[in-house]
Amino acid sequence: MTGIALGCIADDFTGATDLANNLVRAGLRVVQTIGVPRRPVRDADAVVIALKSRTAPVAEAVSASLGAATWLQAQGARCLYFKVCSTFDSTHKGNIGPVAEALADLVGARFVPVAPAFPANGRTVFQGHLFVGDQLLSESPMRTHPLTPMTDANLMRVLQPQLASRRVGLVARQHLAGGAAAVHERAGNLAEQGVQMAIVDTVEQPDLAVLAAAVAQGNWPLVVAGSGLAIELPGAMGLKRHTQADALPATDGARAIVSGSCSAATNAQVAAFMARGGSAFAIDGLRLAAGADALVDEALAWAAAHLGAQPVLFYATAQAETVRSVQQALGVERAGELIEQALARIARGLVDRGVRQLVVAGGETSGACVKALGIEQLRIGAQIDPGVPWCHADPPGLRIALKSGNFGGTDFFHKAFATT
Ligand code: ADP
Repeated sequence: MTGIALGCIADDFTGATDLANNLVRAGLRVVQTIGVPRRPVRDADAVVIALKSRTAPVAEAVSASLGAATWLQAQGARCLYFKVCSTFDSTHKGNIGPVAEALADLVGARFVPVAPAFPANGRTVFQGHLFVGDQLLSESPMRTHPLTPMTDANLMRVLQPQLASRRVGLVARQHLAGGAAAVHERAGNLAEQGVQMAIVDTVEQPDLAVLAAAVAQGNWPLVVAGSGLAIELPGAMGLKRHTQADALPATDGARAIVSGSCSAATNAQVAAFMARGGSAFAIDGLRLAAGADALVDEALAWAAAHLGAQPVLFYATAQAETVRSVQQALGVERAGELIEQALARIARGLVDRGVRQLVVAGGETSGACVKALGIEQLRIGAQIDPGVPWCHADPPGLRIALKSGNFGGTDFFHKAFATT
């Protein structure tokens, strides 16, 4: 490996893809890895290590993040990018604060900017308060999130109790208005007051361009950010813009979709695929419970007869009332697990039968399929719809798109295969 410039650590899988997608759009060649890579990563300007650390126990999240950071440093990364959710998903224990602090200690950062905003997706920060569209974070649906309820929109107040030794300040809009020099002056003033970490206001994307310039000019070794900063940072760091950054190796083989998401968007996508005459095989949770092996075998026998010129779909995707009745019969966890495992086995079987272009719908479903396919690295290609790029995984020599439930337009499946 020739050395990477930007080393990224994402606290969940789809967050990693979102970040990688923006880095590719900024002209970098990007490889996303599932955990710390065991094999060398080649031809990449940035590596995004996807962890599952957002809601893991604090010590586990810190240790996994330090492991990733150490590997990235060894590959030459001069800036570490700790990617967090644009709604700052965390609890009073962490994990954003403890991980950020451990990384800051590792790289010897005197000042760490914290910029979760992504204005294009309606996430903005003003006077340190996070907004989701026109709602304060604490008044948005995030306030009742099952794992990380966000009941305070003031990010200084959210972050401070998560930190062991550092104090949190604010780089406000008025500082950003003065450009990178004014941001440096503000950072210097904060440091004099013993404040080593600061929430950075972001009302519009150009605010992130100013922050990126400050990071690059100051050689700051660590940023904590959502994916919005990734659009600005490569240019500010003077990294070469590759015109073919999204080029992927050609793949030739059958095409398939595996869908385990029950989101409104995915339901509409499945319906649209079938309305266009696409062949589809339904996976019924209750039938699975009665005999998973038989249904998976039946699905793969059907695949053998139908794989060919047109893409085929395998779906457990269902409307809310069907999902509820399956969950009542099997229990929420058992239903989810049974269906994820069956879809993952089908994905594996499809690849064994010659599928070389695969779309997976659903975050958890994607995780299960990636694992079943033994995928450790993904080269990130062109975006199909915002936040969902085609990727290439080798092994097994597969083009794959991993779509989190709510993403993508109604015609996503058709569009995906039209853009390979
Ligand atoms: P999303 O990204 O939309 O949240 P996920 O794949 O993360 O999608 O989650 C969907 C969950 O719903 C998975 O655990 C999946 O196994 C489960 N599931 C899919 N179809 C059904 C169904 N028909 N009944 C019950 N659970 C289902």
